[in-house]
Amino acid sequence: MKIGHEELTGYLERLQKPRPEEIMKLEAYAEAHGVPIMEPTGIEALLQLLSLKNPKKILEIGTAIGYSAIRMALKLPEAEIFTIERDENRYHEAIQNIQSFQLENRIHVFFGDALEASAAVQSMAPYDALFIDAAKGQYQKFFSLYEQMLADDGIIFTDNVLFKGLVAGDHSQIESKRIKKLVSKIDDYNHWLMEHPDYETTILPVGDGLAVSKKEVKRI
Ligand code: SAH
Ligand code: MG
Repeated sequence: MKIGHEELTGYLERLQKPRPEEIMKLEAYAEAHGVPIMEPTGIEALLQLLSLKNPKKILEIGTAIGYSAIRMALKLPEAEIFTIERDENRYHEAIQNIQSFQLENRIHVFFGDALEASAAVQSMAPYDALFIDAAKGQYQKFFSLYEQMLADDGIIFTDNVLFKGLVAGDHSQIESKRIKKLVSKIDDYNHWLMEHPDYETTILPVGDGLAVSKKEVKRI
């Protein structure tokens, strides 16, 4: 008997506790408007790992409408979250959603392109956890830029590293040139990340694929 990944995911999703109504509203909004928020099994795994780590300061790259930032803030009542979004409409939507959860004291949204680290973001370093969930073709750049702001025992999470499973299949079968290029970039990122001398990485096949990279503190 062979059970496919989709069936497993469906099973895990049905096992999950229902989320609060206001959270489900955000999920429904994202679905209706094509906003790529984290998938249910991905966000649950992220939140569980974060609560084991109990970070005080989290930096997120890619806010969208604030869904994952809000989930992290609700799960970790002591954490402060800094998050960057370059799309102006989404930035404003995120601010509104965060206000409606009364989390504006703990979630700070920066408007701008995360490819350039702003002075404001730098000034809040070091971060205990970094969550990369923005343009998939730029993951290595985000990682290299922001890992400098990570605490010595910090963790870096990267979402969408399995890209709907496409990285695992035969890339030459992918018709769209754009998608093929993205798949190859993510595949390169995964190899680069797994071989990174300063990090121990494990990739979890939850949601769209979540990489968990722990900084290895070098002892002399
Ligand atoms: N983390 C969110 C989903 C983020 S979707 C959640 O799970 O709820 C990815 C977002 O990253 C998009 O809104 C996109 O506009 C943003 N983004 C992509 N590239 C970016 C960049 N270079 N700088 C800032 N934001 C970026
Ligand atoms: Mg994502």
